Amino acid sequence: MYSRISSVFSYSQPKQYEMFNQVLLILKLFGVVFRQATSHLQDLVSSFIHRQTYKPGTNPKNIVVVGASFAGYNAAKTLVNCIPSGYRVIVIERNSHFQFTWVLPRFSVVDGHDMKAFVPYAPYLRAPSGSYSWIQDTVEEISPSEEGSGQGQVRLSSGETIDYEYLLLATGSMAALPSRVGYVDKEDGTRALRVQQEKIALSRDIVVIGGGPAGVEIAADAKDRYPDKNVTLIHSRQTLLNDGFGMKIHEVLSKALSGLGVDLIMGEKPAIPSSDTGHIELSDRSIHFDCLIKCIGQKPNISLVKFASAFSKSGYIRVKPSLQLDDERYTRIYVAGDVIDAGDIKNGRSSMQQGQIAAKNIVHSIRGRKQIQYQQKWWEGLTKLTMGLSKSAAYISDGSAELVISSSSNVDLDSKRVWKFLGATPYVDPTAKIQG
Ligand SMILES: Cc1cc2nc3c(=O)[nH]c(=O)nc-3n(C[C@H](O)[C@H](O)[C@H](O)COP(=O)(O)OP(=O)(O)OC[C@H]3O[C@@H](n4cnc5c(N)ncnc54)[C@H](O)[C@@H]3O)c2cc1C
Repeated sequence: MYSRISSVFSYSQPKQYEMFNQVLLILKLFGVVFRQATSHLQDLVSSFIHRQTYKPGTNPKNIVVVGASFAGYNAAKTLVNCIPSGYRVIVIERNSHFQFTWVLPRFSVVDGHDMKAFVPYAPYLRAPSGSYSWIQDTVEEISPSEEGSGQGQVRLSSGETIDYEYLLLATGSMAALPSRVGYVDKEDGTRALRVQQEKIALSRDIVVIGGGPAGVEIAADAKDRYPDKNVTLIHSRQTLLNDGFGMKIHEVLSKALSGLGVDLIMGEKPAIPSSDTGHIELSDRSIHFDCLIKCIGQKPNISLVKFASAFSKSGYIRVKPSLQLDDERYTRIYVAGDVIDAGDIKNGRSSMQQGQIAAKNIVHSIRGRKQIQYQQKWWEGLTKLTMGLSKSAAYISDGSAELVISSSSNVDLDSKRVWKFLGATPYVDPTAKIQG
């Protein structure tokens, strides 16, 4: 395993500032790591004390969390470790397992690791007894009552209804492989990954549409795994990735893709064929494909809050800095993660941060304390992208300088560490129902 700071780039600033920006960014990163470690330590101490003092009581009030991925799972963990006695958390998640998105492009190409993308929901919550219950189901409807501040009821697919005092919505985005699994159960999800692997293995001309993180990663992996196949990546913009990423990472990634032999086509937005084989028409040529991988069109899951008037122009849920729904009628509804309009950065780190703040604000509201104001921070944008089967690049920018750190990577992208972080034993899947 190696690691190398390949480049630090300052946005067209005089040369003499480059070194200053470089040192400043690295120092700021150390500062962030220190603050995070201190706050983690404080949380450990306060959750230990909470475990000794918390009592659910006979008829606890419900705080319902909808969706348990990066935002919702972390929100639930925060809540169960600081809710006042007399409250309990009810987590409602439709998937059987935590679906680890980061490895999906890799496991759509490489076989033998599918199950590692499905982490059992396990003791990540480390909660005092009676502080939560877990329901695997889909929330079909949220009905806030006419009076009050948004407390109400959720209706599940099973028909069951659950009253809530507070609601935390973390429903994220929907997409197909390789961006999201698109299946509820692990069995169907692993099968979908194997079908995708087989499609790629049997094809000759692979076309990937969309040069966001998923598109870049799957194109590089496919070409690295099958050097004899033709792999083309088509992106609508002139730079790879999306808002929130700068020029330097574009340069590093395009060099890596070209080095592998991926045909990179920028600034083209062709009509997307619906067939499995055919031709893509570009402005100056036509490209044959027998495997088409669409890495575009992720959509936020916003339908549950259709009752509110809090949507941004881009189709995300608008929130206040406190992460309450931006609609005065529903101050007891909080929203976090990819589904909200909170800045350019949409990633797991940012979603976890928002989940934690929304959870703390619910507790602050119960205790009559001031709400914490969330503002997206530059360090939430720290992202690691693979560049073929054995290399990756970590990217960070504070707006003044960009840092790209190249390193080697394992074929399963260190899935083990994520399992452990989520409280699961790699790769043991008890699939037992969990109950706090
Ligand atoms: C290929 C790829 C690579 C990535 N790599 C990185 C990376 O390296 N680093 C990084 O930080 N981020 C990365 N990301 C981004 C990261 O995966 C997302 O930002 C993150 O998943 C968002 O988390 P979330 O909790 O907001 O929503 P999601 O992960 O979309 O999860 C939403 C959850 O809500 C549940 N849900 C939705 N509706 C309902 C309902 N009605 N009832 C019950 N449950 C419901 C879903 O089942 C799901 O579990 C990557 C994303 C992709 C696609």
